[in-house]
Amino acid sequence: MQRVYLDNAATTPMHKEVIDTMTQCMHNIYGNPSSTHVFGREAKAQMELSRKKIAELLNVSSSEIVFTSCGTESNNFIIRSCVDHLGVTRIITSTLEHKCVQETVAEMESNRKVEVIRVKLDPSGSVDYDELERILQVSDKKTLVTLMHANNEIGNLLDVEKVQQLCEENNALFHTDTVQTLGHYPMDLSKLKIDFASCSAHKLHGPKGIGFAFVRKSLQFKPQITGGGQERNLRSGTENVYGVVGLAKAFEMSLNDLDKHRAHIEDLKSYTIQKLQEEIPGVEFNGLSADLDKSLYTVLNVRLPFKDALIGFELELKGIAVSQGSACSSGASKVSTVIQSVLDAETIERITPVRVSYSCYNTREDIDRLVNVIKQISEKHLVAHYTFKCHSDEGGI
Ligand code: PLP
Repeated sequence: MQRVYLDNAATTPMHKEVIDTMTQCMHNIYGNPSSTHVFGREAKAQMELSRKKIAELLNVSSSEIVFTSCGTESNNFIIRSCVDHLGVTRIITSTLEHKCVQETVAEMESNRKVEVIRVKLDPSGSVDYDELERILQVSDKKTLVTLMHANNEIGNLLDVEKVQQLCEENNALFHTDTVQTLGHYPMDLSKLKIDFASCSAHKLHGPKGIGFAFVRKSLQFKPQITGGGQERNLRSGTENVYGVVGLAKAFEMSLNDLDKHRAHIEDLKSYTIQKLQEEIPGVEFNGLSADLDKSLYTVLNVRLPFKDALIGFELELKGIAVSQGSACSSGASKVSTVIQSVLDAETIERITPVRVSYSCYNTREDIDRLVNVIKQISEKHLVAHYTFKCHSDEGGI
């Protein structure tokens, strides 16, 4: 059975060119970048050329890119350093953030006595910008705003320009989790004056185990991981040279092909919405994910009008991989905190959320397969519903 992969917000398949670039590097380069001999200098050169390439693509300085192991580490590094080294005593965030932000902020709240304010969301899950402004204005505590650029489950996009401006006017630092958007949207960080951003290579057809934190130059961080003083003494540990090379290649490819891939994926997303609406009576979509202008184009969160805790398993039996929550919590049939933030308890009881997430490798045939299988599952539920209703009406079981 041909398998269909529609879980690209969890991770993406690597581009062949990225694998080739990394493999070539593995064959030829094996020195430790900290060694002063030629083997080490060769490895160091690969690292720095990659850093320069990424910095150029974001229009920032190389010294503002700090390589890490993943998006989770980047977000941890930024939030913890703001509290530890920049004197942040207040954090403004939301209940929609990825767990690696929410958990870190919660730890700062309980162990470091940082004041944490979770900004109000409207019913579609978007940040209430007026309330954010009001919160920013009422305190002169050193404040960090951490709000994600795009939500990984429901796709809602943050108006980053607006939030950046509000932060600047109110002297707050601004971190945005860009794990789902870097490489998917053009970003000129010389114009968009955010202070911190995060990236993970495996979300853009690069390798797992490598990412970076963007930290604006003027901000004086110290390391969270101490040791040999690598990464200009911001993150010790022998560098993942091959990962860095793969990340730079994947990032470059993503931005070079951005318009072409975006058009292709937007077509797939519109096609999915249209086919589901034709085939599944009562289907809806969670958050803003069906609004092409206001959501991450790679994510569609489908709200099926029946309860089926095993839907992920049933789809998998037919060869289709999707997600019911974020990858970290998949396996659990519990509805995610993001869905709980945008739907009331009564609605959650009678629907099934399914996250479909796309990459440039998906096709309309993949969508036809997905919709056909969802249609079969939906019809099974309809039959079960009417059988139960007839029995009840007859006073049966
Ligand atoms: N932030 C967001 C928005 C994500 O979607 C993810 C991964 O799903 C992460 C952070 C964590 O990234 P990583 O898997 O590289 O640790």
